Amino acid sequence: RKSSVWNQDKTIKSPFKDVEIPNCTLYDYVWQNLDRWPERTLAVCSTTGRGYTYEQAFKLSNTFAANLRKKFSVRDGDAIAVMLPNVPDYPIVSLGILEAGGVITSINPIYTAHEVQRQLVLSDAKIVVTLPETVNVIREALAIAKKQLPIITVRTNGNPAPEGTVLFNELSEDLSVDKSCLKEVRRSANDICLLPYSSGTTGLPKGVELSHRNIVANCEQINEPLIKCDNETTPTHQDRVMVVLPFFHIYAATVLMFHKISLGIKLVTLDKFQPETFFDAMVKYKTNVLFVAPPLVLLMGSHPAATEKSLQHLEVLVNGAAPLSGSDVDRFFGRAKRKLDFRQGYGLTETSPTVAITQKGWDKNYSSTGPPIPNTHLRIIDPNTFENLGPNQTGEILIKGPQVMRGYRNNPEANNEAFTADGWFRTGDLAVVDEDGVVTIADRLKELIKVKGFQVPPAELEAVLREHPSINDAAVVGVPHPVNGEVPKAFVVLKEGHNKVSKEISEFVKERVAPYKRVNDIVFLDSIPKSASGKILRKELKQKYC
Ligand code: ATP
Ligand code: MG
Repeated sequence: RKSSVWNQDKTIKSPFKDVEIPNCTLYDYVWQNLDRWPERTLAVCSTTGRGYTYEQAFKLSNTFAANLRKKFSVRDGDAIAVMLPNVPDYPIVSLGILEAGGVITSINPIYTAHEVQRQLVLSDAKIVVTLPETVNVIREALAIAKKQLPIITVRTNGNPAPEGTVLFNELSEDLSVDKSCLKEVRRSANDICLLPYSSGTTGLPKGVELSHRNIVANCEQINEPLIKCDNETTPTHQDRVMVVLPFFHIYAATVLMFHKISLGIKLVTLDKFQPETFFDAMVKYKTNVLFVAPPLVLLMGSHPAATEKSLQHLEVLVNGAAPLSGSDVDRFFGRAKRKLDFRQGYGLTETSPTVAITQKGWDKNYSSTGPPIPNTHLRIIDPNTFENLGPNQTGEILIKGPQVMRGYRNNPEANNEAFTADGWFRTGDLAVVDEDGVVTIADRLKELIKVKGFQVPPAELEAVLREHPSINDAAVVGVPHPVNGEVPKAFVVLKEGHNKVSKEISEFVKERVAPYKRVNDIVFLDSIPKSASGKILRKELKQKYC
């Protein structure tokens, strides 16, 4: 049967009907339904219980916005850096910046002064919003950059603001501010609203210019595929979503913050990840929807606190950000002692982020990421000839759709590489698409290992290794080899109490893969280095051990 998602020219369209994209700012989009649930909780901190209703959050961010313009002279298009962990104030800060006409450039809160400095300079940030605990890192970064910027601190305990900084609360709770200045804000759908930096898995992070329309589109595009994942908020029901993924990354920013707030959902924020507190909070706040990246799926399939009881309220689990295999998901189901509605999505910072996602009831192949979401077109190409490939052929995946970024900031070289002449965005990811348009990501093109000219995706070997009964986690990289060109080298983390039996692990892999994919070089580690957004840092392993 020839499926209708494949066009004659071998481009692929979404099986969903196109959705209409409202021509408005992200700020207006997110608050559009506010009067339906003003008393509902918007966000609550799972460790302190501190939180805000929708109405409170709206008023606080509105006041903050007016003060940003009045006291800090923020002008349309100014970048404001937000370096915060997942505190319940995060959405208020973000929506306030947008309402003031600003652009949010979010920074990983565990970045060093050097990393912070780079992003502050590249984004040309005018103000920094951070916690009192990280003011010193910002000061150091500013000293390196020979820059001075105002610092706004979000206080999460009773301590005073560090000297020389302004308290966020004083700006958001200031009843005296004249809000008429907000009438001067001129932002439209095509203006930039977010300037996130990509995770930096393959090189230095790049500044990604995302417009209001990009994010609004992506929110509308995921509505239908995510149905029965986010239940509608009604007088008797409100979904509880645990926010353990970092808000600073586009996955949580769009899918967990902006999209969920537009639906009146309760965000349960976790600022410091510890397995026990995480599982406790799942029970205490009865969180029924959880968006994660692979490291958390692995944890929930192996940690002693991952039990039928601690997972009792969970109805939907959505994974994204890095490859995951079916056996990883099965291990998790084993802990929950039941099958939940499991979904997987695929996306990039450059695509706001969602490109594809599996639908409710998907139980065929848990490592697939489902068909493209509405309004999204794909191509699978041979990266050397640029020729379109057909169903079930592996190649680079290219994307067209309203969620695709305008471009990288001040980086014509990267933009040239990222877009084809006819406007397709090149992801650098290797994927296959089946007859029905279902996408499965193999790995990154750049991270393929080439053994005697054959291509070995490290993610495939990692999945096989994680199936071994003594292995908790694994990473694979290519190392130079005098005869074969390259060979895979594996790094494994054993389960507690299991022995380092390299030979047996090599045998295990040998039984499951083609001869050129065999692994004979195995290193035992306590943990695999991963980024905050859930990606294996293979370049770090290479630098350290190869
Ligand atoms: P950089 O571009 O700076 O090297 P990065 O690509 O890791 O960093 P992100 O934009 O956070 O930065 O991540 C996007 C990448 O994540 C995709 O290109 C893809 O390789 C990977 N990815 C996302 N979702 C999935 C998924 N479901 N399965 C496999 N890989 C995924
Ligand atoms: Mg990337």
